[in-house]
Amino acid sequence: GCAFALSIDEQFSVTLLEKKSKTELGPDWIDGFDKQLIEDYEISKYVEKLSDSFGQRFYSPDGMTSIAAPLSERIEIDRKILAQNLISALNEKPNITFIENATVKSALIENNFVVGIKYKLDNQEHTINSKLVVDATGYPAVLRKNLAEIYGFTKDIEKIDTFLTFRKYITRPTSLTTNEHKIFFGRHRGISWINSEMEDLVDLFAGVPSFADHINPKEIVQELENQLKEECHSQIDLKPVRANYPGIIPTRRCLDSFCENGFLLIGDSACQVEPLSGSGIASGMLAGYLAAKIVNSLLQSGQKLTKANLWQYNYEWIQKTGAQYASIDIFRLFLLSRSEEDYNFLIRKRIITENDFKNSLTGKKIKLGFIEILRRLWRGWTRLGLLLALKRAINDANKFKTIYLNYPESYDKELFEPWQQKKEDILRKYYKKVKNFNK
Ligand SMILES: Cc1cc2nc3c(=O)[nH]c(=O)nc-3n(C[C@H](O)[C@H](O)[C@H](O)COP(=O)(O)OP(=O)(O)OC[C@H]3O[C@@H](n4cnc5c(N)ncnc54)[C@H](O)[C@@H]3O)c2cc1C
Repeated sequence: GCAFALSIDEQFSVTLLEKKSKTELGPDWIDGFDKQLIEDYEISKYVEKLSDSFGQRFYSPDGMTSIAAPLSERIEIDRKILAQNLISALNEKPNITFIENATVKSALIENNFVVGIKYKLDNQEHTINSKLVVDATGYPAVLRKNLAEIYGFTKDIEKIDTFLTFRKYITRPTSLTTNEHKIFFGRHRGISWINSEMEDLVDLFAGVPSFADHINPKEIVQELENQLKEECHSQIDLKPVRANYPGIIPTRRCLDSFCENGFLLIGDSACQVEPLSGSGIASGMLAGYLAAKIVNSLLQSGQKLTKANLWQYNYEWIQKTGAQYASIDIFRLFLLSRSEEDYNFLIRKRIITENDFKNSLTGKKIKLGFIEILRRLWRGWTRLGLLLALKRAINDANKFKTIYLNYPESYDKELFEPWQQKKEDILRKYYKKVKNFNK
């Protein structure tokens, strides 16, 4: 939301409504940031690098084997500092009004156009009329849900596409000798980690998909604490020094469209996240920038902010990163219908390699040609079914990406509906498998 407001031309006024106070903004932790997504744009100046990316080592759920993820181009950032940088920049803009402690409730609609919103401040209801309303409320997606029935937006995203997290930082125990970002991949069907790469802190994180019988991620963090105690061979101070609260991430491909007449979705409210890692900061900021650029040009040329005119934002974001994220989503769905034993096997036998991680994260196609199949078959022939399913998932992921790269360039129902159908044909079988597996 801030990236959008800051990128709007100063001749147009913007009101930002935030339910928290300014000082509360920004999660209290350190995150990986995909800087290359926005490095060509002005908004990158608000992002302050804390350090290079933490090196990562992926462990099988049983902890017996591991592979090092290739060093990424990501940087580490402190979310509190990012929030404060954005707020300072907003304060300097004469065209932006920031109203804190204001909770947005619903959208106002007239003649099939979103024309404003209702919000609550100091227990009183207020309204604002505007040419455009942007929902950047993150996972709660307050206005998307409010408008779902009228405009056909997805109201509630599926539970299997919802990642429940818990994160806590403790002071680095003096008896700890390791400096490693240890990621347990597939444990409890999610991801958890102990990151001891920082000088003074240890980051304990757990995230699981919201299956009916999911384990509470806070309990997984307690398991990690016990593991750390064993590693230190001594009592350690487990008092939280940062974070220590839950979070939710929409881990799936983006929505099919982020716009309506007088209305836009930006960030987590549009599911603009990388589905395997749940990273959505840079891609959300990119969306804010792209959307503002299009809105500026429409307003400057006196055009209305209709769905058809705003459509270019859908197209540009999907071309720049959404298509790549969509292909990663197929891989995520494949993994969600696999047991911990499968994960152990895939990592132990090096069926999934460092290069696969690298290719899937950097946007290159993962290729599994004849020779490569034979090579991996040699390592994994006892689980031929698993290997073939992986091969199918890789093919489908590549196909899925191509479908997204062919997203309609302009809004035309006749083109859009068949496009949706094509992607649903691939998705349907994966959802069926995941749901059957996790009944
Ligand atoms: C534990 C955890 C770790 C993560 N790690 C990473 C990472 O390493 N890298 C990465 O890129 N991403 C990471 N993410 C994801 C990242 O935090 C989100 O993708 C990103 O914050 C989305 O930005 P957003 O602006 O869309 O939503 P948010 O950051 O959620 O911002 C939405 C804002 O809207 C406000 N709001 C909500 N409802 C209302 C309302 N009704 N009225 C007014 N205001 C409202 C909220 O208070 C909030 O300030 C992580 C998420 C979690 C939970």
